[in-house]
Amino acid sequence: MTFAATVLTLYPEMFPGPLGLSLAGRALAQGTWSLDAVQIRDFATDKHRSVDDTPAGGGAGMVMRADVLAAAIDAHADDRPLIAMTPRGAPLTQKRVRDLAEGPGVTILCGRFEGIDQRLFDARAIEEVSIGDYVLSGGEVGALVLLDACVRLLPGVMGAASSGDEESFESGLLEYPHYTRPFEWEGRTIPEVLRSGDHAKIAAWRKAEAEVVTRSRRPDLWERHIGARVQPPSGARQKKDE
Ligand code: SAH
Repeated sequence: MTFAATVLTLYPEMFPGPLGLSLAGRALAQGTWSLDAVQIRDFATDKHRSVDDTPAGGGAGMVMRADVLAAAIDAHADDRPLIAMTPRGAPLTQKRVRDLAEGPGVTILCGRFEGIDQRLFDARAIEEVSIGDYVLSGGEVGALVLLDACVRLLPGVMGAASSGDEESFESGLLEYPHYTRPFEWEGRTIPEVLRSGDHAKIAAWRKAEAEVVTRSRRPDLWERHIGARVQPPSGARQKKDE
């Protein structure tokens, strides 16, 4: 099954962009996934082909029109999830990425200017997704981020190199540190345990390192990891001592 991506944008030239190279590019060429970048302006109806207008209530910048965006959405929407990139959206997570990658694909709406007329979100079932707490100039780079994260999980894209299971976020922890040759570089050596050939010992060391780095860099992830671990595996929750 091909993972079908449709991107609604004022800048279709930005696609596939970086996703045309490396593993994602090869997978695109092989038909593991498909990408349709749609020019929103083609759905404008006035003679100037306008897609935006000044904000109601005043203020800086321009707002994307609900009617034009709805026409673009309605022409392409199907059973795939419909996502708009917005800074107000739910932060993108590896879990959401994995769910999307297991589905038929995604349609992504890219905002520009100050944003999108609220009535579009009120009138259509659109999932708003943010790629982080900072402001981009448009949703296109966000769409590339989301698609990159999905495509690398598609069967066959990464080969046997990694099942992804041990990577950052998959287990709720950040990843352990990596090393490769040369054995010594600028006086620094590779940790002895990694050269021991003792796979159980190596696995234990990596787990411990992942816990240390997560606890120090991302206390929020660590709290959740610990919390998840003390939950009973299924069924009724045990009452914890206060
Ligand atoms: N005025 C808005 C920012 C608009 S930025 C605000 O203050 O919230 C223009 C467009 O870039 C947005 O419509 C959105 O599509 C995209 N964008 C900006 N930051 C983003 C982020 N963190 N995640 C996803 N999309 C983002």
